[in-house]
Amino acid sequence: MNTVPLAGDTPPKPNTGKGRLIICRNCREEKRYYADHLCSACWKRWDGAGRPAEVPPPRKRGQAAAMPSRLRDYVIASDSGTMSAAKTAKRLGVSPRTVYRYRARLRQGEVPA
Ligand SMILES: [Zn+2]
Repeated sequence: MNTVPLAGDTPPKPNTGKGRLIICRNCREEKRYYADHLCSACWKRWDGAGRPAEVPPPRKRGQAAAMPSRLRDYVIASDSGTMSAAKTAKRLGVSPRTVYRYRARLRQGEVPA
């Protein structure tokens, strides 16, 4: 089995090499290889999501990009914001601070994904 080198003049490096350019299998962009045929951004997103079967889609919403679907969990757990922060935090297993952050994001118009 031959490995197909990527287009370009750079000679192929050993397969295990971090930092070589690959086409990331998730975002399809030419990025530096991190692991599992993913760029570091995709890999970290995947890892952070608990390594599901599918790599979570990239977030392109600027700043508060972390904990994407958590926002929806918050909306559900808080009964659309009617439950107290403390109770909601307990339900979600997060700190009340995190709940306040969710609230702030919703106020800023972010739509739970
Ligand atoms: Zn990627």
